[in-house]
Amino acid sequence: MLQPEQAVIYVAGNPRLYPVEYYDGTSRTYRGVIPEFLGQFAREYGYELRYLEPGAEDRREELAANQQVDLISGCLAGERYDHTAGEPILLFSEWAKGEETVYLLYVTRVAPQALRDELRDCAARTSQSQWTGELLRTVRETSAGPHSGGGVWGIALAAVLLCAVLAALLSGCRRERRRQRRALLTDPETGLGTDEALSRAVTRLSGDQTRRFYDLICIHLDLDHVGWLRGWEQVSALVRHSARTVRGHTQAADLPVRSASGDLLILKQFADSRQALDWAGELAEEIRAFPGTGEALTAREVSAAVCPLEAEYQDLERLLFHARQCALAAGREEEPSVRLCGARQCSSCRERWTLQAEFRQGLEREEFQLYLQFFVDAHTFRMVGGEALSRWKHPRLGLLGPDRYIPWLEEDGRISQLDLYCLEKSCAFLEDLDRREIRTFFLSCNVSRRTFSMPGFSRQCLEIVQRYTFTRKLLILEVTESQRTNREQAGQMLENILDIRSSGMRVMFDDFGVGFSSFHDLQDYPMDGLKLDKMLVDNMCTQRGRILLRVLVKTGHKLGMTILAEGVEEEEQIRTLRELRCDVLQGFRFSVPLPLEEARRRILEENCFKPEDAGGRETEG
Ligand code: C2E
Ligand code: CA
Ligand code: CA
Repeated sequence: MLQPEQAVIYVAGNPRLYPVEYYDGTSRTYRGVIPEFLGQFAREYGYELRYLEPGAEDRREELAANQQVDLISGCLAGERYDHTAGEPILLFSEWAKGEETVYLLYVTRVAPQALRDELRDCAARTSQSQWTGELLRTVRETSAGPHSGGGVWGIALAAVLLCAVLAALLSGCRRERRRQRRALLTDPETGLGTDEALSRAVTRLSGDQTRRFYDLICIHLDLDHVGWLRGWEQVSALVRHSARTVRGHTQAADLPVRSASGDLLILKQFADSRQALDWAGELAEEIRAFPGTGEALTAREVSAAVCPLEAEYQDLERLLFHARQCALAAGREEEPSVRLCGARQCSSCRERWTLQAEFRQGLEREEFQLYLQFFVDAHTFRMVGGEALSRWKHPRLGLLGPDRYIPWLEEDGRISQLDLYCLEKSCAFLEDLDRREIRTFFLSCNVSRRTFSMPGFSRQCLEIVQRYTFTRKLLILEVTESQRTNREQAGQMLENILDIRSSGMRVMFDDFGVGFSSFHDLQDYPMDGLKLDKMLVDNMCTQRGRILLRVLVKTGHKLGMTILAEGVEEEEQIRTLRELRCDVLQGFRFSVPLPLEEARRRILEENCFKPEDAGGRETEG
């Protein structure tokens, strides 16, 4: 602890690093996550905090040079200060839109070593989740008025944008400042505006009467699709062609932007929505006529939405989210069309917005539950195992099926959190059966291909499984179809598969025969089983379908794999699958997914199924 005369810490704050730190003109104090942390630190270690000359200007460097400060707070990785001593203190990092922002504190040379040590100690004891959870929540709850933002993600986005603004402000030289300003507002590849330029324009319009005449047009380019199907060399040519086309359609008063998400956005005035829809439709059509690929691009590859700047989209992140979701929805239509994003037209993206924000809390509160659908031996019809399927028991919306949350969890990368959560629950279920001396029932658990190709997945998986004692081979991981994997991810996935299999667990392909799975996968990955997708089972009534299935079953068996068939509903399908020597069957013909408790009861009660035993409707647990 410092001596009494040293017990005041002078801090040069960063008034622009919202929401991490900002100066609240009303309460005349610094607010935000870092002031919250410093406040807690000061209370715990018995200091008094004094922010030097709080105001709207950033004077950190100057105050440090005048030897007036002990601490420069709210710094970003990469910022350097001449009058500081030693390495900065790492506070926390935050990911938004694929970018990591690292927040730091600098201790100046005039501050005593003890202060540095205590701060470092306190920061090290504050976990990342406290930073992004508790502290950020405190800030949200205590901040009011113009500073209270949409949600944690709203705040995070604002932080990233303003971090960029900050970089420009700190530059010493005017020309450099101008150059940085241009870089901030202009996309170097296309010459269109950036998200920051859009953010400023939307903010300017927020109190403006003319706001209601503006629409934001979103042109979504599915560059991945174009790359995979038409060649990666076409991707940058398409981006340039699109930017040129957008420029050709816009005037000085419009703001065309290339968003960090890859979408093209145009802020433009229209007489009414009809006019905006027509305009966006023509623009999308012209982009689809991309000369690089011979034939026109599809509605999926170039899709469009019109988002009126309605009052409910004051928050830019939310506006962009809606615009993108609606453009994606338009891309799923058979015929090219433009989606009008508005109060009535996009209730599904509103639901998604809410669910996305509630997901973390849902996991913490264990709102996700497992249902179990039984597997039966194709020849004896004995119940041999089951598949764990998740459901979200949402406190307001009721029981939600995976189609309501898996697609966007895949998209935003949080699917691995759900997968690991379900893995833990599946292990607990197997452990319970083991305690009851049921040691032949195997349980399969869905793991997204995206999770499977994450570095560290096998370690996380083994950490979970190590807490249990059930026989390892009873746990099967089903690799679900989600996205394509690039070469690096494929290598990582192979490593994970090898690790997991060498620890005794089993791995199988789910949804085999549709989507992105291919014969290549059989070549590349050593697997224990193959689950034939329902679509193949449905096509079995055709001669071609049967031929295909026969080849798959034979190939799988030759490679030493167990063959499962899913989605079995008809007697005829059972007959054919048995003829084809398929090993295990799953489908409504045998059982619907049951709440875990009920499934447990059934396992304990009986373990022989006949097709006519097919369960009734799925029941709520
Ligand atoms: P899936 O792994 O292919 O699971 C089978 C889906 O088909 C289940 O839908 C199941 O209820 C349904 N199904 C089973 N038998 C039949 C049948 O005879 N006829 C028909 N029409 N459908 C049948 P569900 O539970 O809605 O799951 C949908 C998908 O969500 C799953 O497809 C799986 O890919 C994914 N999923 C569910 N839980 C998780 C999870 O925890 N993690 C991951 N990554 N994915 C999950
Ligand atoms: Ca599955
Ligand atoms: Ca499947």
